[in-house]
Amino acid sequence: MPDDVVDAHVNGVQRAVAEGWRVLERGGKALDAVEAAIVTMEEDETFDAGRGSFLTRDGRVQLDALMMDGATMRAGGVGCVERIRNPIQAARLVLDQSPHVYFVGEGAELFAQEHGMRLCRNQDLVIEREIQRLKEAQAKEAAGHPDLTFAGPQTSHDTVGAVALDANGDIAAGTSTGGTLNKDPGRVGDSSLIGCGCYADNLSAAASCTGWGEPIMKLVLAKWASDRVRSGGAPDATATEAISYLQRRLQGHGGMILLDARGRFGIAHNTPRMAWAYKSTEGEKSGIKC
Ligand code: ASP
Repeated sequence: MPDDVVDAHVNGVQRAVAEGWRVLERGGKALDAVEAAIVTMEEDETFDAGRGSFLTRDGRVQLDALMMDGATMRAGGVGCVERIRNPIQAARLVLDQSPHVYFVGEGAELFAQEHGMRLCRNQDLVIEREIQRLKEAQAKEAAGHPDLTFAGPQTSHDTVGAVALDANGDIAAGTSTGGTLNKDPGRVGDSSLIGCGCYADNLSAAASCTGWGEPIMKLVLAKWASDRVRSGGAPDATATEAISYLQRRLQGHGGMILLDARGRFGIAHNTPRMAWAYKSTEGEKSGIKC
């Protein structure tokens, strides 16, 4: 995260927390709070989610999102959608209204439309900043210097995620992304895959990840961390362990937010920065390092 976009990121996550908190404060469900927080970030072009996401190799936006309810273990995901402005809302529809857990591409768009969502055009999700970014990445690649944005330590990952605990004692998690810059069309990363970039179970923890998706998927990192909380690990130490495992085992880079049903939480990353924010009855805080 370069210096000139730090404020936009911090403001973005603070706004997301405020929206999520509004839901919790009036006794709403963790799942609704997570959805509200993520919609706010999808609507914010700062992030790699919704409009303003990174582009595929052929210049399109392809979005992935997942929501999971720790109380019921219901889950809903969409992958590679191109005509949905807020894929987290489509994921929520899948969670609430389908016997299935995961839809991709046109089938996901059709499902969303049949359940009342208006589809947009793919061009409506593409912004000039990303057209330029893609051009630069492809020019570097053509010159024999492949872009290491996602593989190196100076990574840029703007996927959004949220975890929440409600007054009922239930936890939920959600993650939404445009994936990686210059990705091949059809590529799906960790973000929307259960247990990889997102997971929630009241008996263990709610987790959301960001970072270079392929290593996170191979380690099933969100579930790895949740299982450790279930067997007694504290979320703050566990989130840190998960990110060092990612680095040690596969030289991966990324970050994680982790919350259990007792309200204990952890925030960890091995990228130089990661924007985060939280709010509880005891106070609120945000930052770019932890
Ligand atoms: N994890 C995402 C992916 O690989 C990218 C990100 O976190 O920004 O699709």
